[in-house]
Amino acid sequence: MRRLSTVAELRAALREAPRPLGLVPTMGALHAGHVSLIRAARSECAAVAVSIFVNPRQFGPDEDLERYPRSPDADLALLEREGADYAFTPSPEEMYPPGFAASVHIEGPALPLEGAARPSHFDGVATVVAKLLLQAQPDRAYFGQKDGQQVAVIRRLVRDLDIPSEIAALPTAREADGLAVSSRNAYLTAEERSAAPVVHRALAAARDKFRAGQQNAAELEAACRGIIEASPLASAEYVAAVDPETMAPWSGRGPCMLAAAARIGNVRLLDNVLLE
Ligand code: AMP
Repeated sequence: MRRLSTVAELRAALREAPRPLGLVPTMGALHAGHVSLIRAARSECAAVAVSIFVNPRQFGPDEDLERYPRSPDADLALLEREGADYAFTPSPEEMYPPGFAASVHIEGPALPLEGAARPSHFDGVATVVAKLLLQAQPDRAYFGQKDGQQVAVIRRLVRDLDIPSEIAALPTAREADGLAVSSRNAYLTAEERSAAPVVHRALAAARDKFRAGQQNAAELEAACRGIIEASPLASAEYVAAVDPETMAPWSGRGPCMLAAAARIGNVRLLDNVLLE
């Protein structure tokens, strides 16, 4: 595996890479969710690049940029084990050099839910993902359905900016008790950790109702919210049935994503299920 830390090194190395090239963008602290993306890339592509960059632009001023988990040595060892060909680990200054003045502003699927809760978050995501896709020019880039709204935003981004990379979305990797694997799970206390699976349990219960014939968005949302709120440690910030492509409220027809953001103590957890 080659470790690259500048855009010039990345470009020079990737010029020689066999195709198709897969890119897996991450913020590090790699876990089973990331591994599933890397394995999908490994099985579908002749070369695999993984970027590790904690992107300051997608964190709000009062968010957890400073304390976001970082484990660079373990991450590089994992990438070696998983057979990645290139690890791209740029510094913030490499990605945003002095005088940096451009940014990608995105609306549409970026506006509701996380976009409403975290203003400028998706502009930060769109800016860094556009940069990574232009830097690496992969045939395919891999993202997790765990962040379902992010997938919709990135699909819109590549379509609107004519970026010629295919976007693959992989199913959410979960712990044995259903909790979606996430770097931020490390913030949970032992007590909070044992309460946290309620988010997936609530989404799965609503999915069961959907499968049993319930097609009313408000009823599905209320069923999910009720289960989260019944847990003494959890509160639901939003529960929304949306169109997975546009993030507009689900009309009752076609594919549906039921998305939830919940607080367990001070930790904000995101999860979703597709209803089909
Ligand atoms: P992050 O490092 O948290 O920015 O995540 C990097 C990529 O891994 C994103 O595309 C995430 O959606 C994806 N990811 C994070 N958690 C999971 C998970 N539990 N299952 C599948 N993909 C995930």
